[in-house]
Amino acid sequence: MHDKRIGAAILIIGLVIISACSGKGIGSSDSSSASSTLPISESFFIFDTVVSVRVYDERMSEAHFAQIKKLLERINETMNRFEEGSEVASINQAAGQAAVQVSQETFHVIKQAKQYAERSGGKFDPTIGPLTDLWAIGNGGSRVPDRAAIEQARQLVAYNMLELDEDRTSVKLAEAGMTLDLGAIAKGYAGDVVAEYLQKQGFSSAIIDLGGNVVALGNKPEHAVWTIGIQSPEEKRGAHLGTIAVRNKTVVTSGIYERYFIDQEQIYHHIMDPATGFPVSNELASVTIITDKSIQADALSTAVFVQGLQEGLAFAEALDHVEAIFVTKDKKVHLTSGIKDIFKLTSEDYSLAE
Ligand code: ADP
Ligand code: MG
Repeated sequence: MHDKRIGAAILIIGLVIISACSGKGIGSSDSSSASSTLPISESFFIFDTVVSVRVYDERMSEAHFAQIKKLLERINETMNRFEEGSEVASINQAAGQAAVQVSQETFHVIKQAKQYAERSGGKFDPTIGPLTDLWAIGNGGSRVPDRAAIEQARQLVAYNMLELDEDRTSVKLAEAGMTLDLGAIAKGYAGDVVAEYLQKQGFSSAIIDLGGNVVALGNKPEHAVWTIGIQSPEEKRGAHLGTIAVRNKTVVTSGIYERYFIDQEQIYHHIMDPATGFPVSNELASVTIITDKSIQADALSTAVFVQGLQEGLAFAEALDHVEAIFVTKDKKVHLTSGIKDIFKLTSEDYSLAE
């Protein structure tokens, strides 16, 4: 009698532990995974977005998640320009006056940002800050600023006046009023850092999602690939227009649905055209980049969005190991040649181009 009761109590405790684990897991309704407790997941709020990390491995622990949180916080505290005392904030404060010495890591990200600016002929420009501040889209802005102010801000967007000293790892903005803004690249970098950490800890199957910047590590257990949903523009987060089957890839989307305001029936979103000083206005609703490094995917998704369909498609096609999905406002989907076999349209509202 006595033994049976203890046995029942242990069973109940066991069940509570199992349900607690699966309750934690985002998307743990996944019945195809090896164990009902997988993935083991955790969410963080950082970079103004929800970051979710789902690991398909029973060894994943609270200590690992705590370490990931630390990594994300470190990047936020050095590269977020809105974070008081961050390295990027210091660079901005010293604009027009002095070079600021920064960590290797921050220098590396800024250097890459400048390279994407050069390669895209300034369509991607990490000195976009004066324009993002002026428009403040997703940050309280609700009206088109006056022309003179736009023109003034536009003059201060100039990646060639972002001076990098490799030996001292120092950074200087040549003119007062210039502002470095790593908003289009830092989340991608963070995705790579988390992926690298997990790999070093011996985890080989995980999904890292930084508000739409996805890193798909390895493959899904018992599957050859992951199936990643491609966000449908103009719909709330989570609605997909199609899927892509990948392993060990990063999938990053930039679109007009992320942050915007509407003024006189015109939509003003957060991806700026440095040439006009206005939010990009072209045929595109979103661009998704599929590649190996998330820092690259993040920068390219913004760069290619600014380029527009034709130029962007040619640009992406010319790069090795880079694939792209372009979705136009008239609901056509254009693909680079390397992903025609692995992309699947799932929404009837959209159609494949050609
Ligand atoms: P999200 O951050 O929503 O995932 P993006 O990766 O496209 O989207 O980044 C958009 C952010 O990048 C903006 O909020 C702004 O900080 C910055 N940005 C906007 N336009 C440009 C541009 N042309 N070049 C570089 N950065 C930009
Ligand atoms: Mg980006």
